[in-house]
Amino acid sequence: MMHNSINMDHHWLPFTNNKLFHKEPQIFARAEGVRYWTPEGNEILDGASGLFCCPAGHGRREIADAVHAQLLELDYSPHFQRAAPVSFALAERLAAILPDGIDRVFFGSSGSEAVDSAMKIAIAYHRAKGDAQRTRFVSRSWAYHGVNLGGTSLAGMVGNRREYSGITCDVVHMRHTWNEDQRFTRGQPETGAELAEDLADLCRTYGGETIAAVFVEPIAGSIGTIVPPVGYLKRLREIADENGILLIFDEVITGFGRTGSAFASQEFAVTPDIITMAKALTNGSVPMSAVAVKTEIQQAVLDAITADRPELMHGYTYSAHPVACAAALATLDIYEKDGLFARSKALSQTFLDGVFGLRNLPQVADLRGYGMMSGIQLKPGSVPGEKGSIIQRLLFKEGLHLKATGDALIFAPAFVSSEKDIGRMLEVLQKVLGRAD
Ligand code: PLP
Repeated sequence: MMHNSINMDHHWLPFTNNKLFHKEPQIFARAEGVRYWTPEGNEILDGASGLFCCPAGHGRREIADAVHAQLLELDYSPHFQRAAPVSFALAERLAAILPDGIDRVFFGSSGSEAVDSAMKIAIAYHRAKGDAQRTRFVSRSWAYHGVNLGGTSLAGMVGNRREYSGITCDVVHMRHTWNEDQRFTRGQPETGAELAEDLADLCRTYGGETIAAVFVEPIAGSIGTIVPPVGYLKRLREIADENGILLIFDEVITGFGRTGSAFASQEFAVTPDIITMAKALTNGSVPMSAVAVKTEIQQAVLDAITADRPELMHGYTYSAHPVACAAALATLDIYEKDGLFARSKALSQTFLDGVFGLRNLPQVADLRGYGMMSGIQLKPGSVPGEKGSIIQRLLFKEGLHLKATGDALIFAPAFVSSEKDIGRMLEVLQKVLGRAD
């Protein structure tokens, strides 16, 4: 299958209907700022920061220069019993913007790796404390925690786990926090905090002492931006503490300013024990993720080892890849120099005004939003999920890239977008969602 002299036969695209794609390819050939261009030269506005990765916009020269310099200085170094200066510098920078007390950082290359690493760290911590029976995890329906086996086990989206039963591990699920009464709620819903009691119920059913950790996305992102009810995260924290369970915030989407604070943990004033992050860590430029843990979690694992052997039998060839570290450091410089977290907070008002202005369009069933992320729930067609895919393709043809999950569109532009850029994105949405069929 050829498209514009591209042979498309051999690359099996992830999370894609490849047959449909071959018939109607939607390809990005170039990017700058908040715009992509197709190979034919058509401009596509980036309404999803790529995949929530690029809040500082595309084609940042500072990152390209840092990557180039690092490749020439030290292109690769192993991190098993060896290290490179650049990863220590990055971990120190991250510790400075993370919530107080969360300051020990383990690196990987993807959000999925961060999630699986966090699960192993949780188990290692409990084992070190003499609690080896804590091997079970709690997640939530509609959750997305990546696609490795740990993340697949935690998954709360049926399509991501249904076909893989048999290879997943022991995870029990709380309910998600969305309900009918919340339709068109901007920001945090006032009701629903009591859903945190699901964690207490699971502790009663399975024994709190068998549970290692509870994972939540502070704002459920991939499913289409479900914002936590006021008080919900705080109550989860309390129940986790009462039962000796670690609270893990998966901030792969919410990290690095998406909510207006560096991390959603700070925004919602609830401190977990572990935070996973990826995506915007390098502004999407080089694959990288991190797991940040409380000091005492690492200390307990370190203290449990007496012989000369690694205390954590876990790591990746590309853990703390020096090029990724250089990209991340350059990215953190941009966030600081350009004040992008504050910019995200300031732009959020205009952004959410625009999003909630879509409320009366014929295709819109619900709107949700917080900070610089929003979910547009579409009125479903006869087959669930098909409408999202159709509308996503139509938007592309009209010049706007958004992410679709099932029948939800996720609209989360870069923080460097101008109000005019956002206005233009909204015009495309008005046009496509304003159609009655
Ligand atoms: N966790 C969350 C909350 C995510 O949103 C994602 C990806 O969207 C992941 C984990 C997985 O990240 P990756 O696709 O980099 O493996």
